Amino acid sequence: MLPSSPRPAAPGWLEVWLEAGREGRTFTYANPGHLGIGVGDLVRVRLQGRPHTGLVVATSAERPAALEGKGILPVDEVLQSAAIDPLWQALLEGVAGQCHAGLFRTLKSALPPGWLGQSRRAAGLGRLQWQLRPDPAGSEVPPSARQQALLDHLARHGGQRLLRDLVAADGFGRSLIATMERRGLLLRESIRTPAPGGPGGPGGEPGCLRQEPPRPPNPAQAAAIRAIAAAPAGQSLLLWGVTGSGKTEVYLQAAAQELEAGRSVLILAPEIGLIPQLLDRCRRRFGQDVIEYHSGMGDGERVVAWRRCLDAGLRRQPCLAVGTRSAVFLPLGQLGLIVLDEEHDGSYKQESPMPCYHAREVARLRARLTGARLLLGSATPSLESWCRCQPARRGEPADTLLLALPERIGQRPLPPVRLVDMRQELVDGHRRLISRPLMARLEGLREKGEQAVVLVPRRGYRAFLSCRSCGEVVLCPHCDVALTVHHAPRAGGDGREWLRCHWCDHRQELGDRCGHCGSSAFKPFGAGTQRVMEQLAAELEDLRLLRFDRDSTRGRDGHRRLLERFAAGEADVLVGTQMLAKGMDLPRVTLAAVLAADGLLHRPDLRASEQCLQLLLQLAGRAGRGERPGEVLVQTYSPEHPVIRHLVDGRYEAFLAEELELRRQSGMVPFGRACLLRLAGLTASGTATAAAALAERIRPGLEAAGWMLIGPAPAPVARVAGRSRWQLLLHGAAATPAGSEPGAGGLPLPAESELRRALPPGVSLTIDPDPLEL
Ligand code: ADP
Ligand code: ZN
Ligand code: ZN
Repeated sequence: MLPSSPRPAAPGWLEVWLEAGREGRTFTYANPGHLGIGVGDLVRVRLQGRPHTGLVVATSAERPAALEGKGILPVDEVLQSAAIDPLWQALLEGVAGQCHAGLFRTLKSALPPGWLGQSRRAAGLGRLQWQLRPDPAGSEVPPSARQQALLDHLARHGGQRLLRDLVAADGFGRSLIATMERRGLLLRESIRTPAPGGPGGPGGEPGCLRQEPPRPPNPAQAAAIRAIAAAPAGQSLLLWGVTGSGKTEVYLQAAAQELEAGRSVLILAPEIGLIPQLLDRCRRRFGQDVIEYHSGMGDGERVVAWRRCLDAGLRRQPCLAVGTRSAVFLPLGQLGLIVLDEEHDGSYKQESPMPCYHAREVARLRARLTGARLLLGSATPSLESWCRCQPARRGEPADTLLLALPERIGQRPLPPVRLVDMRQELVDGHRRLISRPLMARLEGLREKGEQAVVLVPRRGYRAFLSCRSCGEVVLCPHCDVALTVHHAPRAGGDGREWLRCHWCDHRQELGDRCGHCGSSAFKPFGAGTQRVMEQLAAELEDLRLLRFDRDSTRGRDGHRRLLERFAAGEADVLVGTQMLAKGMDLPRVTLAAVLAADGLLHRPDLRASEQCLQLLLQLAGRAGRGERPGEVLVQTYSPEHPVIRHLVDGRYEAFLAEELELRRQSGMVPFGRACLLRLAGLTASGTATAAAALAERIRPGLEAAGWMLIGPAPAPVARVAGRSRWQLLLHGAAATPAGSEPGAGGLPLPAESELRRALPPGVSLTIDPDPLEL
């Protein structure tokens, strides 16, 4: 999507979105004429005497009837011509609708940070100006003598000239130029004249790496690549390929097809940590011009990347961009393909601030609007995407086309899964975090020149209560989810721990004996990477360890540097949190182990099982990618849990089918919809009162639509950074049957701005439709 040109000549009245205004409404301003303003321009206007940034969303030649007899202020200044084009605006409106968020808020979060309101100089953007050239498409009407004179004049100036120069220096009239644009004789483009001292344009280092040729695809890869090329415009495809099956190679070859056809490609990965590897592979294949865009970059760098996309669009040059979820908004022109790697990953969902969009749904919408194809890739597809591959009715085509890569490259086997029953460990008097079988496996590692990754789940620690003897987990009597352990807040309680349900706010005391078997080995789970490192170091002295978590991978290249050290053989074991499971391709890793899988199994969340199995299968995917066969070792207190069973069988599709049936019975996504309203305020009582008032405000609308209101209840983490948090959970039937249009139907809620007005000052609100965490 790029600034579209030519645009109609400027009419008299402009409809402008303002951040200050009520969401959903626009304000009318007069076009002073000489500014040449059109739809998609960012402008500076005054509202109640104060300057504001606004976006022109519509123009009209007629003065709006409602404003008859009233004074209309003129626009003061054009900040940026052609900031967005109509397709991009349609995308924003769609996203705002999906997310129940205001348009300006959505615009602001889509643009690079600081894009609005910054000076052009600071952004290194230079000045945006109009340039005119003969329309290459030509016109059916022959030019008049005056028009021909202007065309000859252009030809003498190398075929193009700034509008400003044509008018001010060369003396051509604006009305002549406007007429020629309308007749298709002239084309107007916005161009950038460099700002002194600002960063340069596109380019970067010259192609210093040799461009690597594509690998000959195996038959399954070849079939997938052909199917992507043959898919109709706007089609979604799901590439389900086991770990190490060559999905990335399919992305690269599909991307090459598009780039050769002159269309742009966008490749998304869920986490910053995956970007360096992906970027390297893209640059080796396509050269240095690949555009990078993610939140790990500085604001200035992101602005430059954004500008490069716009520039490429203006020159009708296809480009390849790689980034995380926010890159889904990059203003790429002639988009041909959007790839979402690891499409099941929850990091594609923005939780705050609003709009709480899901990059997959934004990409789907964008594909539909632009005719690009959407390629979702995963070894463990989300239930939602898998569901879309099933026809809604017999005989009908499914929404999403399923492509499969059932085997690893080189027919390497998937590693077998071995369970360690931690209850037995305890019976045998072994109370350590690391079981004896895992210890034994790690001992021989270094001699053999092999490596291991050990996952210490970050989530769920100290969260739920489980009996180390019988595996019993304490559940809520009303909700069938695990109760979680909390410290009583300092002020009210006595500092003791107690158990609470996130759903219904049921509370009970934390006992010290298991209600099931009476054992006293009844403790909250808990172990961080740090503790595991210490234990490993104490017990296996020769083993060289590296820690891979948020703390050890700080900084721009933290991930890459750490992985490079591990790949170079600096350590035998990499101990880390969730991000360990994602994407790394290291041939010497033969063991993937998880400590305390239970921390993941019993999370009080609708998607706990799905996410747990996805994570464990992804982790398993790290082992045995090279010549030597791999193995997966899972420590658990619940070996009979369905997730563990499916992990051992490797039958992911059977799991999805079972899970879908459970969701059908309980009316949960994708058979139902949910929306979370999160409130935060300075005092607990003030926030609670506001939540109750908000509940009353929305109850009638929800009831009329047949929706349920659960809560208000304190948020799972009731106090964050000194703010009290409450939440309301809304639940209702999906407007459409499973597999179509998630988020498309509106929620039975008043507009965002209405809801905010129902809250006292100081209490903030986040509307999170289709939340991932329930
Ligand atoms: P995935 O993304 O499915 O995990 P990758 O694309 O990373 O798999 O491929 C796994 C490994 O196999 C990589 O090292 C890749 O270079 C290699 N590979 C992929 N496709 C082919 C092919 N057709 N021939 C040979 N090697 C391949
Ligand atoms: Zn017990
Ligand atoms: Zn409950």
